[in-house]
Amino acid sequence: MVNLEQTDFFDEGALVGVLTTQPLDRVLDYKAPVGGCWLGAFVEVPLGPRKVLGVVWGKGRGDWDPAKVRSVIKVLDVAPMRGEMRSFLERASQYTLTSMPNMLRLATRAPGLSNPPSMQKVYRLGDVEPDRKTDARTRVLETLRDYGGLSFTLKELSDMAGVTSSVVKGLVKLGAVVEENTPRDLPFARMDPDYGAKTLTPDQAEAAAHMVAEIRREAYGTTLLRGVTGSGKTEVYLEAIAECLRVGRQALVLLPEIALTAEFLDRVEARFGAKPAEWHSGVTMTERRRIWKMVGQGGAQIVIGARSALFLPFQNLGLIVVDEEHDTSYKQDDGVLYNARDMAVLRASLVGASVVLASATPSLESWANADAGKYHRIELTSRYGPAVMPEMRAIDMRVEDLPSGTWISPSLRSEVEARIAKGEQSLLFINRRGYAPVTICRACGHQIGCDNCDARMVEHRFLKRLLCHQCGESKPMPEACPSCEVEGKLAAVGPGVERLAEEAKAAFPEARLAVLSSDLFGSARALKEGIKAIADGAADVIIGTQLVAKGHNFPLLTLVGVIDADLGLQGSDLRAAERTFQLIRQVAGRAGRSERKGVALLQSHQPDHPVIRAILAGDEDAFWQAEANERRHAGVPPYGRMAGIILSSTDVGQVFDLGNALARNDGALRQIGAQVYGPAPAPIARIRGRHRVRLLVKADKAAPLQAAVAKWIGQFQIKGDIRLAVDIDPQSFY
Ligand code: ADP
Ligand code: ZN
Repeated sequence: MVNLEQTDFFDEGALVGVLTTQPLDRVLDYKAPVGGCWLGAFVEVPLGPRKVLGVVWGKGRGDWDPAKVRSVIKVLDVAPMRGEMRSFLERASQYTLTSMPNMLRLATRAPGLSNPPSMQKVYRLGDVEPDRKTDARTRVLETLRDYGGLSFTLKELSDMAGVTSSVVKGLVKLGAVVEENTPRDLPFARMDPDYGAKTLTPDQAEAAAHMVAEIRREAYGTTLLRGVTGSGKTEVYLEAIAECLRVGRQALVLLPEIALTAEFLDRVEARFGAKPAEWHSGVTMTERRRIWKMVGQGGAQIVIGARSALFLPFQNLGLIVVDEEHDTSYKQDDGVLYNARDMAVLRASLVGASVVLASATPSLESWANADAGKYHRIELTSRYGPAVMPEMRAIDMRVEDLPSGTWISPSLRSEVEARIAKGEQSLLFINRRGYAPVTICRACGHQIGCDNCDARMVEHRFLKRLLCHQCGESKPMPEACPSCEVEGKLAAVGPGVERLAEEAKAAFPEARLAVLSSDLFGSARALKEGIKAIADGAADVIIGTQLVAKGHNFPLLTLVGVIDADLGLQGSDLRAAERTFQLIRQVAGRAGRSERKGVALLQSHQPDHPVIRAILAGDEDAFWQAEANERRHAGVPPYGRMAGIILSSTDVGQVFDLGNALARNDGALRQIGAQVYGPAPAPIARIRGRHRVRLLVKADKAAPLQAAVAKWIGQFQIKGDIRLAVDIDPQSFY
């Protein structure tokens, strides 16, 4: 419906309300600048002595002394924020109880947006033939002819032709090459939807047809694409992306791990003939700005990114794919606490886009939404090609004869030896970084902890340091016990990936070992190269953490040994069973991805535990059904709602006082039938010197939780150095 009173354009001098990234609880009034401005325009405004970034959010409120209202300084040379994006930020703010300035920060995470477009010199073929041609000159001219009318930067051109830059400069003087200025923020190469299409299997084709129809509808809809690892989920959603390109809309693919993007970019290039835009924390600042701008004006058709890519200003978004949708890294753990999977659904629903949630082991939330008919469900049940799901067996650790301080059971060991003899790869999986999780003094029993956190320091022998996995604090491994000062009595307790590697080296002296843990690689590139070398057969035994569970393809891998299948079962976390199930299924899925059949062996002290039994039986639906029943019974997510409140302060008395006051004054929560639990010291009661206290709010699924929580905490002023964070739908409880 058109609201006749509302206009999208403000003439010079009209009062506009501007949302800034500054921590203020309201939109501020300014006068529209010379030439006026559009609703949604990105602007620079004066705030006290400073200039700050803002967005024209609507009409001014007019509650300010007109004489004091200042003018917008300038309108930035970027596409105005669209109405749907403004609604998205508002809805996301209400959902996560995050302030609007913080939401706007998420949406403007590109540097130098207010700078004039910067220029760069590029070189293309001129129409003068030089009279004297050296070899080097000929190579430059041929390179340019090979690429038709394209232009290149000096470095690109001289690298491609294998000449020094002075050769190119010389040709410019002669007029054989033309030097020009162009804006640095160039559009991305166009994608060809029909470039490298594959022939799909009948199952895949049916799944793709559904998604293509969804894209054509140009309306919101979510599809849960479940399929075992290697069943071709990626191939299927690439078809949805192709359709998106055909209808002229943009596609966003979210991946849980930066390390995966390189492999994925190559795949997109093979399918569509050009590299897509890549957005994550490892991307340079200039490239970030380019992507941000190009996405807004349609110069980027496909973006592959981390969760923050959701806040890019897409011009015409038609599809969001959330790959490995169950992955916990989609939930931001600090700063703005949002779950990218849920925000993807919200964003798509506001622009009439499709969502594809892909996973071999969906989250219970998505499983339940599909079960309730809110999401469409598609299953790919068999692996592509000859690969079959690995056989899964437990190794009962209660009967294995294992010397203390070692973790590879005799049964597992002989299986690995058999693989080495056949030239096949084995993966030993342990979900713990570092050498040993605990360092204990054998003289006094002291365990080395972090000075800032109530957490034990983890020994990283590779770095020769102790590291706190909470705050990142590190210190050299001491000679003497910090408590009793006795020397030479410190001992490592429990296994980490580095210690397991040491054991494997002794157990399989003739084998080539590779250790895959995120902290053992200096850069994303080194990691990518490491993974590729392993895939090409450069190792016999791979020792890996969670990192190997995700997406990589190792064709020679036929054995997966899970060192401690019970590890995830001990947590108090309500999702512990779900996580264990997903992780082990995924790791097991690494085995036998080509013609060779794979085996997954789970070392467990409780092989009869229901989760372990469900994993072994491969009976996913039985597992989900049982898990769903349990949670429904307990009224916990996804069948109930939760919010976590985390209070922290350097003063332990202050946090408990506020926590108790919150617990006593819970009227706003009781009005919606919600209960509050706590305050209780958080499982990690101190991080970076700040004491932490948690409260947990539980409500019915239909209760208006956010509004009640906002009203409840709104009664209190958060003073001093106390911080209060609200975590809606908490995923972890540390
Ligand atoms: P998933 O995403 O389910 O793990 P992928 O899409 O990565 O599965 O497929 C696994 C492997 O099989 C990939 O190397 C992929 O290229 C290949 N593959 C899957 N389907 C086809 C197909 N229809 N034609 C050719 N190769 C395929
Ligand atoms: Zn610490």
